[in-house]
Amino acid sequence: MIAYLECFVSESRHDDGVSSLSKALGLQGTVADFGGEAGRDFGGMKSFPPLAFIRPAGADDVARVVKEAARSSNLTVAARGNGHSINGQAMADRGLVLDMRSLGEHLRVVRAIDGTVYADVSGGALWEDVLKRCVSEHGMAPRSWTDYLSLTVGGTLSNAGVSGQAFRYGPQTSNVTELEVVTGKGEIFNCSEKENSELFFGALGGLGQFGIITKAKVLLQPAPDMVRWIRLVYTEFDDFTRDAELLVTRQDDGGDSFDYVEGFAFANSDNPADGRPSVPLDPQETFDPAHLPRTSGPILYCLELAHHYRNTDRPSSVDTGVNRLLGGLGFVEELKFQVDLTYVEFLLRVKRAEEHAKANGIWDAPHPWLNMFVSKSDIADFDRTVFKKILKDGIGGPMLVYPLRRSKWDTRTSVVLPESEIFYIVALLRSTPPYPKGPSAENLVAQNQEIIQYCTRKGFDFKLYLPHYRSQEDWKRHFGSDQWSRFVERKKCFDPMAILAPGQKIFSRVP
Ligand code: FAD
Repeated sequence: MIAYLECFVSESRHDDGVSSLSKALGLQGTVADFGGEAGRDFGGMKSFPPLAFIRPAGADDVARVVKEAARSSNLTVAARGNGHSINGQAMADRGLVLDMRSLGEHLRVVRAIDGTVYADVSGGALWEDVLKRCVSEHGMAPRSWTDYLSLTVGGTLSNAGVSGQAFRYGPQTSNVTELEVVTGKGEIFNCSEKENSELFFGALGGLGQFGIITKAKVLLQPAPDMVRWIRLVYTEFDDFTRDAELLVTRQDDGGDSFDYVEGFAFANSDNPADGRPSVPLDPQETFDPAHLPRTSGPILYCLELAHHYRNTDRPSSVDTGVNRLLGGLGFVEELKFQVDLTYVEFLLRVKRAEEHAKANGIWDAPHPWLNMFVSKSDIADFDRTVFKKILKDGIGGPMLVYPLRRSKWDTRTSVVLPESEIFYIVALLRSTPPYPKGPSAENLVAQNQEIIQYCTRKGFDFKLYLPHYRSQEDWKRHFGSDQWSRFVERKKCFDPMAILAPGQKIFSRVP
């Protein structure tokens, strides 16, 4: 078989070679020509062409490919979701890349005996398709989301999956009850908290290291009809964090809160991409800087909230409910922006930003993004140095910063977190035109390094989210000794030859 793959390399551009490979593997699905897609990602800074880009039709095909790779001395296999990684994590340099989207749109909504409702979905399904089908066919929706939904179920579950609902329900990894996984030995398992639990928790947040997720059971709840989407401006970081933390903990005392809580820092400038004009939600609304105190600094903050409601709710009761939740918050009263939209429109809000970025060439430019979790105890220092000094002119895109709660995450998964109960996600979603119109990607990567080094030097309690390291020493430090030992044990058990997800650069393929 491997001779066949080698032959495929030289003949890869011929349809014959492609279909023969598919036949030789006995796949239901297909093997694509190189394309180029499999050697690129959203980050746009790495490019590793694979040996073949394979479109599996189901878990059996995935297992067949992994088993074939295991027979060789050096082949690796990368599951590619929608390729929205930044640093080549879904690539396999001269290895086999699986196009997980080809697993199809399998979706079945099931009500368990205990009343729990979940969707049984393909690991390669896009969350936007899961949303549309769950809402339109069943009036239900997953509880926990990412901001942007053209990401696959398996891709986000391999990391965590975080958005403004995570303070209440935890990340997406806390909202699945069962997975179907193909391990690095080519075995297919169903796993859950009770069955093959080590594989279940290992795969969640496991950076693709222990298995390829081919199906997931995702918890659902009734979908609301409408959302009131609100933005509140703050000039002081202390006021912003006090209110954000209040909103993400209020439910503990039986209080009510918003259904979504996020926040971001933005430049106190008139730059449309990342300054004051980027804040209003409705084109009719404007941000009048005259409402800002004279003492305002170079960076301002915005709490972003959402309140769900039904079409049958009276407008006055929606207003009353929202005003009650806003009561006592210390934002600049004149700088409150809001819009009402359907639940699906709200969840697909970043799709509109994508269309805009595609139209002006920014979507396809390199994206040296940096995502981190920073403990509550260090976030004020982070703000003083990183937002107010290093990034005081903005980054051409959103600088998300909002609190999350450790107790909503399951520490049996592979995700690593800071120690404190409240920690902040910081996401520097740099969106600048390609060099030379914008800054060079190298300079932005260097700025990311400067930020990481500052956090390290100051001894901050922080972790990278969607991590990327070059050496195993760095990975060990990232996990910390206990979690690293567990990660290595899981690797030995489920992918002993280190065939899977080579683009993460954690383990080397065992010959
Ligand atoms: P890929 O990039 O294709 O793969 C990521 C990793 O997972 C690779 O190592 C790959 O081998 C592995 N993998 C993929 N599929 C599987 C599978 N089925 N089984 C096992 N391993 C698999 N993240 C958030 O948490 N919240 C956000 O709000 C958010 N917004 C984003 C917005 C944009 C515009 C972008 C580009 C990214 C965003 N992300 C966000 C990050 C995103 O969650 C990750 O990049 C995720 O990995 C992308 O999913 P994907 O399907 O494209 O995965």
